[in-house]
Amino acid sequence: MASVGSVTRQIAALEISAKQNGATKPSRPIQKTQSQTSVSKLLTKFAAPHPFPDAKPKSTVKAVPPRPANPTARAPAQKTLAPTQTLSKPDRELDIGKYDGGFEIENEKRGEVVRGEAAQDLALDSSVSRTRPTREWHLTDFDIGRPLGKGKFGRVYMVRTKVEPNYILALKCLYKSEIVQSRVEKQIRREIEIQQNLRHPNVLRLYGYFHDEKRIFLMLEFAGKGELYKQLTKYGSFSERRSAVYIDQMADALSYLHSKHVIHRDIKPENLLLAINGELKIGDFGWSVHAPSNRRTTLCGTLDYLPPEMVEGREHNEKVDYWALGVLTYEFIVGSPPFEEMSGYNATYKRIAKVDLRIPPKVSAEARDLIVNLLQYDPEKRLPLSDVRRHPWIVRHRAKTPSPPGGQS
Ligand code: AMP
Repeated sequence: MASVGSVTRQIAALEISAKQNGATKPSRPIQKTQSQTSVSKLLTKFAAPHPFPDAKPKSTVKAVPPRPANPTARAPAQKTLAPTQTLSKPDRELDIGKYDGGFEIENEKRGEVVRGEAAQDLALDSSVSRTRPTREWHLTDFDIGRPLGKGKFGRVYMVRTKVEPNYILALKCLYKSEIVQSRVEKQIRREIEIQQNLRHPNVLRLYGYFHDEKRIFLMLEFAGKGELYKQLTKYGSFSERRSAVYIDQMADALSYLHSKHVIHRDIKPENLLLAINGELKIGDFGWSVHAPSNRRTTLCGTLDYLPPEMVEGREHNEKVDYWALGVLTYEFIVGSPPFEEMSGYNATYKRIAKVDLRIPPKVSAEARDLIVNLLQYDPEKRLPLSDVRRHPWIVRHRAKTPSPPGGQS
C-alpha cells in the first residue's frame, strides 16, 4: 500500500514531467485572455497535469506564473503551478478588502519562539520540501486584505501575491508554540503533507507554505463563499437539488482521495468551504490518514459523523467516509445529523451502534434510498462511491443543474 512518501513522489513525478514539457519555461506572466480555451491551453502548458481531466470545475482556471529566481535555493527556482477559479475581474483589480494589521498585532502578543526538536519538526517550508526547490515565500510577498476568519491556531486573511498576475489566496497563520502546546506537531505535518499533494476541483488546494520563528503560513486556495456550515445554519437545511449537487461533488472528491489512499475521517459541514462559484471544497485534513488504517480508533471526529466501527473502537477503512457521506446527505436535507441526541454522548453512541435511523417524511424516496444504503452497519454493505454518483437521486438533480448551486437554498 502506498505511503505518504510514495504518493508524494508520484505527484512530484507528474509535476516534474510537466516541467520537462515546458512547465518551467522562463518567468513570463500569463496574461488572461478573452478566450477560455486559451487559458486552458496555457494551464496545460504551464501547470502540472490535472489528474482528472474529466472532473475539472465548470469555472475557468488559470495558472500562477513561474516566480523569479530564488537566490538562496540550490537550483534555479521553479514554481509549482496551480489551477484556481477565475474571478470575474483580473485578480489585480479585485478588492481584497482592508487589512486590520492583525498578523503584526497578534504576533506581538501571541505565541513564543519554539526551539529544539519541535522547531525542526515545524520548520515547514515548501521551497525546500521537494527534490527540486521551488520559490521561497515570505509574508512581504503578499498584499494583505480582509480577515476571513480565526482558527484555533491563528488567523486567516485574503491576500494577493505582489508578483504578477497578483494571484488571490487565503493565507492561514498557525502559531508554532500553540501547536506544540496542543501536541499536534505530527498531525499538522501530516495535514500539510497530505493536502499539498492533492489536486481535485472539490479539494481545497494548498499551494505552498513558509514559516518564521513563531509562525507557519499556509497558502490556501481562496474559498470565496466561505463556510458551508454558515449557509446550512442560515437556511436551516438545503433543497434536495442543492444537497444532491454537493453530495455528487463530495463523492467525486472522496473517490479521488481514496484512490490516493487517503481516508478523510472527519467529513462534516464545518470542514467544507464554498468557492466563488458555489462549488464545494473539502478543506480540513487534520484527521486524515493514509490507508489502510489498522490502528484502533481514537475517537477523532465529532461523534455525530462517526460510523459504528469507529464509535465501537474497531479497525476501520475508507468506508468510514461512505458513512459520513450518508450522514451529510441526511443533514443537508433535514437540517440536523441523523443520530444527534441532545441528552448526550452516550445516547448518540447507542443510536449509531444500533443504526437507529429515523428519516422524516419530507425526504423523497430516492434520497431516502441513498441515505439508507450509505448508513449500513456493515462497512462492506455501504454503497460504493461510484454507485453514489450513478444513483437516480444524484443523476436526476445533476441533469437539472447547469451550474454550481452557489446562490440557492
Ligand atoms: P480554520 O483555521 O481553517 O478553521 O479557518 C478559520 C476560518 O477562516 C474558517 O472558519 C473560514 O471562515 C476562514 N477560512 C479558512 N480557510 C479559508 C479559505 N481557504 N478561504 C476562505 N476562507 C477561509
